[in-house]
Amino acid sequence: MVPDTTSSPSHPTTTRSWRAWAFWSEPSGLIAYLLAIEVVAVAGTIAASMSVTLTARAVGRTLLLLGLAVLFEEVTRRAGRMRLRLSAYLKADMTSVWFIPAAILLPATYAVGTVIALLYYMWLRQQRLAGEIPYRKIGSAATFVIACLATGWAVSVIQAHRLGMSGGVTTAFAILVALVVYTVVNRALVTVALTLLGVRGRGLLGTWEDNLLELATLCLGGLAVLAVRDEPWLAVLVFLPMVLLERGALTHQLEVAATTDSKTGLLNATAWEHLAQRELSRAQREGYPTVVFIIDLDRFKAVNDVHGHLVGDAALKAVGQCLLRVLRGYDTVGRFGGEEFVALLPNVGEAKALDIAQRVRAEINEIRISALVTIADPSADIVLAASIGVAVSPTDGLELMGVLHVADAALYTAKQAGRNRVQLAHRGTASGAAILPS
Ligand code: GH3
Ligand code: MG
Ligand code: MG
Repeated sequence: MVPDTTSSPSHPTTTRSWRAWAFWSEPSGLIAYLLAIEVVAVAGTIAASMSVTLTARAVGRTLLLLGLAVLFEEVTRRAGRMRLRLSAYLKADMTSVWFIPAAILLPATYAVGTVIALLYYMWLRQQRLAGEIPYRKIGSAATFVIACLATGWAVSVIQAHRLGMSGGVTTAFAILVALVVYTVVNRALVTVALTLLGVRGRGLLGTWEDNLLELATLCLGGLAVLAVRDEPWLAVLVFLPMVLLERGALTHQLEVAATTDSKTGLLNATAWEHLAQRELSRAQREGYPTVVFIIDLDRFKAVNDVHGHLVGDAALKAVGQCLLRVLRGYDTVGRFGGEEFVALLPNVGEAKALDIAQRVRAEINEIRISALVTIADPSADIVLAASIGVAVSPTDGLELMGVLHVADAALYTAKQAGRNRVQLAHRGTASGAAILPS
């Protein structure tokens, strides 16, 4: 076990006893789980190494896979490091392209050696610098070792029994089974560890793009098996597609980072304007009305003053999720800045717009800060409220900026009328519920 040297720079590593390792401050369930999978990985490796023999073919294949993997890490090091920094969730893993052929074609000891050598190299070259915690990395290495051992075992069972299939069909079947076993075992082990760490939802499942990337890498790993087995030099053909996959993944992550508001996960102001303008133009071409909401939280400063900025941030996130829940999937929702949100709803008329805005307002009233975070004094919990200015295109303008100005003026009227209200541009008085002190 390697102590966590990243979390306590004031204590030199050499003087720290093993009792002081940050590892012991992890949840006890996680500690027991990490120790258990490490024991299983070591025991499995020892058991599989009992009958190992040194052959030129196994050594050659190991060196080929490790050589390609190291070259890939070097060529894509900057992109990989950037992806690691940009990843809100686990960074999609691309090592399966090397580990699948290792698990299927190499004796277990060589496969485990390949896994450990590559993961250690990757940690030295980039993850250590990105502040990854060593003992968690060791736990993650154990999941790869166990996945490789299980994959090698499944393939050897298929080969031993042949299951009445011809050589070619057996190979294809074995590769498909290997891809499934590797993925299921690795995913299951990682999911349990993350659950013990308290990770939920997207953090467990990863994004669609990350899952697709892992699937594409697995497919290339399956093809690499045939190349390494039949014509090792052809294995270099997986190299360029891998580099392009890594670059494509980085480009996508950069695009998401450039268009997303990190606090709420909604579109940021620039991306919202861009998409909203496009939606508005389409609505004009096709001749249907479009509604714009500007939503400003009421007396939000008090939330920060009473509970602190971090709680304020959690409240902003909850409002963002509330908007996504109440509005439709094709409405364009963004954070305009501070505690102001914007939404563009295509193909909605005035009457329906008011209904929807009232629903948004009422749902925001339902958010309880004490349900989001632990607050020191729950009796001081503040009811969230919002004022909403509503404008409709084409009645209130054809250009996005013009419609926004009209909605902003309506918002101002709603604030003047007492807050926690919806105000339609130019027309009538604001309607809502006075739950706030004025
Ligand atoms: P009003 O009803 O008039 O809108 O009152 P208000 O307090 O909401 O309005 P004001 O514009 O005076 O203050 C907005 C507050 O929103 C000020 C700032 O503390 C808070 N705020 C803005 N951006 C953030 C943020 O990103 N996080 C947190 N926690 N607070 C923010
Ligand atoms: Mg404001
Ligand atoms: Mg406000």
